[in-house]
This record gives sequence, structure tokens and C-alpha cells, in this order.
Amino acid sequence: MTKNLNQISIFWFRRDLRLDDNIGLIKALAASRPVLPIFIFDPNILDDLPRNDARVTFIFQTLQILRLRLRQKFSSGLALYYGRPLEIFDQLLRLHPIASVYANHDYEPYSRERDKQVRALLHSHSVEFYTFKDHVLFETDEIVKQDNQPYVVYTPYMRRWKAIRQQTSACFEATEAKWENLAKDSPLQNLTLADIGFTQSSLIVPPFQTGPQLLRNYSDDRDYPALAGTSRLGPHLRFGTVSIRKIFDEIKRTDAEVFCNELIWREFFSQILWHFPYTSEKSFKPRYDRIEWRNDETEFARWREGTTGYPLVDAGMRQLNETGYMHNRVRMVVGSFLCKHLLIDWRWGETYFAKKLLDYEMASNVGNWQWVAGCGVDAAPYFRIFNPAAQIKKFDKDERYIHEWIKDLHKPTYPQPIVNHNFARNRCLDTYKRAVS
Ligand code: FAD
Repeated sequence: MTKNLNQISIFWFRRDLRLDDNIGLIKALAASRPVLPIFIFDPNILDDLPRNDARVTFIFQTLQILRLRLRQKFSSGLALYYGRPLEIFDQLLRLHPIASVYANHDYEPYSRERDKQVRALLHSHSVEFYTFKDHVLFETDEIVKQDNQPYVVYTPYMRRWKAIRQQTSACFEATEAKWENLAKDSPLQNLTLADIGFTQSSLIVPPFQTGPQLLRNYSDDRDYPALAGTSRLGPHLRFGTVSIRKIFDEIKRTDAEVFCNELIWREFFSQILWHFPYTSEKSFKPRYDRIEWRNDETEFARWREGTTGYPLVDAGMRQLNETGYMHNRVRMVVGSFLCKHLLIDWRWGETYFAKKLLDYEMASNVGNWQWVAGCGVDAAPYFRIFNPAAQIKKFDKDERYIHEWIKDLHKPTYPQPIVNHNFARNRCLDTYKRAVS
């Protein structure tokens, strides 16, 4: 067969929305064929989201910035499509002489199935589909136990992760991409938010901070929700607007052990979801799916709205509803309160967080929800139940955080507690014991 000299490669942006240190893009550009970058707005993902979803606005705006940069710096661009990926690739195959498609790995169950189907379609047209690790430092089964089984306990995973990291030299190699290989001057399709059925959100994704001052104080400040003591990296890692290798490189220079451990939790949960995809819907420990949840709709509404009468829970839920963010300490408290005080299924909470969090990431959300409910890998034992009032004394003792989010705190308009703490605690212990013992 004669080689078509006009053949191009496609680089498919997904959750890696940056030009800098983007492994799949670097590899595509290194292959010495013109590279057409694309992004596909996928209705399979978008259809369930509110029309003013802040994450969609963030993705859209980031893509417009990338388009502009590619045009201004390299006279190139980024083509935007709306449709099911299989259908879009079907069209692209008819429009362009495509030799290969490049992308970065995506580990969620839907994405794995999508990529399997796209790969099959491309192969049926003799087009190669190359994918690369980009989103994490260590993926899938790179960190496993000596018997090749996945780690399901964090601490030994973290130790092994660090040992292997030490052995592998530079994880972040600042190789300059061959930008001259970008496809030039082709008329590339653009879209507006309205074209994909969305409107602009008023919520914004704030920039992250990983400067030396934050990293130095992180281990002291990170548990206090009134302080700006955490990085706000979540959405940037989720959508790939920053390279995880660069972040780890920065930490290495600052020696921020505790911060590094948090990022390893992210990698831990990523490999858990990859090895055990059923955990997106079921408890890792099956006997916990025998718990007789009360699932009271009215109480769930009060939890969502932040009117439980427990100030730390209410402040957290109001922060989430107003900003798309909630401090980690408070996420643990509201999560535990939902599952243990109210006996509402962790999946209800997980789904609500998935809708609201700017940093929503399936692996971390499911992993953490199962952790607070006691049904996941390496979960706290179910009989450890957070006392929301005691948590205020420890982590918000001058009440700055709760006052920030609850304007009528200590006033008659603020609701009475939805349930008595001791009563709820005993009810939880009885219910869990019946299910799991
Ligand atoms: P920092 O404290 O600055 O941490 C830096 C980064 O480390 C985070 O951005 C995140 O990528 C990672 N990280 C920190 N803690 C954890 C953790 N416990 N598990 C996994 N990664 C972690 N994190 C998400 O990224 N997406 C989620 O959908 C999510 N849902 C959660 C649900 C519950 C019930 C709980 C208890 C925690 C959840 N977390 C989730 C973990 C954690 O709360 C957030 O990562 C953190 O609050 C984000 O703020 P930050 O970027 O300022 O964090």
C-alpha cells in the first residue's frame, strides 16, 4: 500500500487541558506528521448536568484560551465538536486522511468503555490509537504488592509509591514539544456555550497556590477550614490545567511531606477505581450494602440545604452550594453526618457532591465517601462517629468558619438540631452492627 503523504495525526484533549508538559500531545508532535488538536463535548457526560454547570464553563473557557494560544503562537488551532465520540470520529475519518490518534489515559469506567469503542472503530480503519499516562505519576498496576495484587490499604501503598519514585529518576522531564508539527491554518471548527446547550456559570474556578509559604505551613494549617491553608489544586488536577509531574517536582524541592501524602491519596483512589470499577456503585466491602438506610427525603433536603441545626454541617453545605468547594475537614464531617447520624445511603451524598464540587473526581469522591461511610478500602471503623460539635471545638474554636457561612448562627431563626447526637450515634451503631456482624 502506498503511504499517503498528507496523512495527519489527531490529538484528542480530554482531562489534560494544557499545552505544557502534556505527554500525549508531546508524543503526537514528535511523530513528524501534522497534528490536529481536537476536543469533543460529549452529550453522554453533559446531558445529566445543570445547564449552567460551572465545570462546563471552566472547560469551555480553558479551551478558548488554548485555541487562542495555538493560533497566536503557532498559527494553528483546536477544533471543537459536540457529539458522541464514536460519531465524531466517524465523521473525522471521512473528512481527513488520519494515520493515528493520540490521547492520554482516562481511568473512569465510562471513559474506559468509550476508549475501547473508539479504538475498535479506529482499528477498523487501520488507524492507530496511542494513549499515554499523564494524569498521575503512577497508574493502574504500577504500584502493586509483591504478589501482584493491588494495595487496598493506603499506608503500605504510599510507602511503596515513595520507594518506586526514588528509584525512577526525573518523573517530570521538560521536553520541549515539536510545535512546528501542529497542523497550520486549517479552518478549525469553534463552538459557543449555547451551541452545546449551556449558559455561563457565575461560579469560577479559583487559581491554585503551591508556593513555598503554603507548602511550609500546610501540615499545620490544612485542617482549619477558616484558613486558606490548602492549595485548591483539585479542579486543576481534575481537568489537567496543571501537570501533576510539575507539582511533584515543586514539592520535592520544598520537602512538603504531608502535602505529598495527600496527592498520593489521589493516586491511591485512582488505582482503586481502576482495579475495582464496581466501587463506583457498590461498597468495596459487600456486607456494607446490607445496611438498612433510612433514606428520609426531608432530612436529605435539610442536609443539602444546610439547615440541619448542626453548624459545622450547615456551614459546609452552604459553602458547597455557594462556591462549589468545601474544605476537606468539613467534607469528612458532613459525609459522616449524612451516613451515620441520618442513616442516608453514601451514594446519595456522593451523587450530590458529584453535581456540586468543582473538583469532582469520581475516584476520589467515591473513595472518600466510602471511607466516611466505613464501607470502603482502608476505611475508618464504622464505630468511629464524628461528633460535629466537638469538631468545631477542635478545628474552628473561634467559630470563624461557621459564622462566615451561617449569618443567623445563635439567633432564633437558626434551626434546632435535626436529631439528637447521642440518639443518632446509638441508632447508627445498632444499624451498622446488624448489617456487618
Ligand atoms: P489540598 O489539601 O491542597 O490537597 C492537594 C490535592 O491533594 C488535592 O487537590 C487532591 O488532588 C489531593 N487530595 C487531598 N486530599 C485528598 C483525599 N482525601 N483523597 C484524594 N485526594 C486528595 N477530592 C477530589 O479531588 N475530588 C472529589 O470529588 C473529592 N470528594 C471528596 C468527598 C469526600 C466525602 C471527602 C471527605 C473528600 C473528598 N475529596 C475529593 C478529597 C479532598 O477533600 C479534596 O481533594 C480537597 O479538599 C481539595 O482541596 P485542595 O485542592 O485545596 O486540597
